[in-house]
Amino acid sequence: MARSTVRAVLLGAPGSGKGTQAELLARSLEIPAISTGEMLRLAVSQGTELGDRVKGTMASGGLVDDGLMSEVVRERLTLDDARGGFLLDGYPRTIQQAATLDSLLERDGGALNAVVLLEVPEGVLVRRAVARRRADDREEVVRERLRVYHEKTEPLVEHYERRGLLRRVDGNREIGDVTAGILVALRG
Ligand code: AMP
Repeated sequence: MARSTVRAVLLGAPGSGKGTQAELLARSLEIPAISTGEMLRLAVSQGTELGDRVKGTMASGGLVDDGLMSEVVRERLTLDDARGGFLLDGYPRTIQQAATLDSLLERDGGALNAVVLLEVPEGVLVRRAVARRRADDREEVVRERLRVYHEKTEPLVEHYERRGLLRRVDGNREIGDVTAGILVALRG
């Protein structure tokens, strides 16, 4: 029996476990996990032109410009492996990016079919992020990333709820339980 195509976004604050879950789900669903944060970190570590442009913004906890991000995502979504579905991790992060994503997908005839919100209490987020200690995870940067999330990204929750796409999943559980919860949410 053919499985229905998953074209989904994982939404959640920094430290909510989106990246980990996207990887696990990608393996189980056999579709790519597209992480814009990973793509940008790779560009920075390789010293590409894109990397040089985004390095400072990333280090400060801010958001890379929407126009630049739309180029990155457009190129990635046109690769062959994204035809059978995808999980986006870290994109969209603004209302403008959500609109861009809609128009990119509309062109290919495959609209989003789910947006999963990973819910994790704020105190847990800060503890997790500080424990993770990436270069951009100093405590003040962690707080800035959370502030930016609340200001720019959280409005997407209502945006997708209005469209009937939002599925809320408790992200404050064992990793495997969260994965199972998301798989149920994607089916629903
Ligand atoms: P992440 O690993 O998803 O938390 O992303 C790490 C950093 O990359 C973010 O703090 C932003 O500076 C940048 N970034 C990743 N995705 C986006 C996006 N969709 N829009 C703007 N900036 C992004």
